[in-house]
Amino acid sequence: MKNVSRTPLTTLERAREIGKQFKLQNIYLGNVSSQFTSTICECGQELVNRSGYHGMVTGIRSGKCVSCGKGVYGQFE
Ligand SMILES: [Zn+2]
Repeated sequence: MKNVSRTPLTTLERAREIGKQFKLQNIYLGNVSSQFTSTICECGQELVNRSGYHGMVTGIRSGKCVSCGKGVYGQFE
């Protein structure tokens, strides 16, 4: 898709804000350099840290946030 221009970061960040308004959980931005690339629990705990093409689970244990205990959907272990 080299004939298609990149989606501007501001558009992605706006989409993130709209998602938050509609109570979507665990929103993150991918394939961009942004402060919003990591998955953050609503309690503020970082759940997954992403940098470039690498991701590391940092705040999920047994399918739950290590800080508040809220369940996190997905397979992380
Ligand atoms: Zn939490």
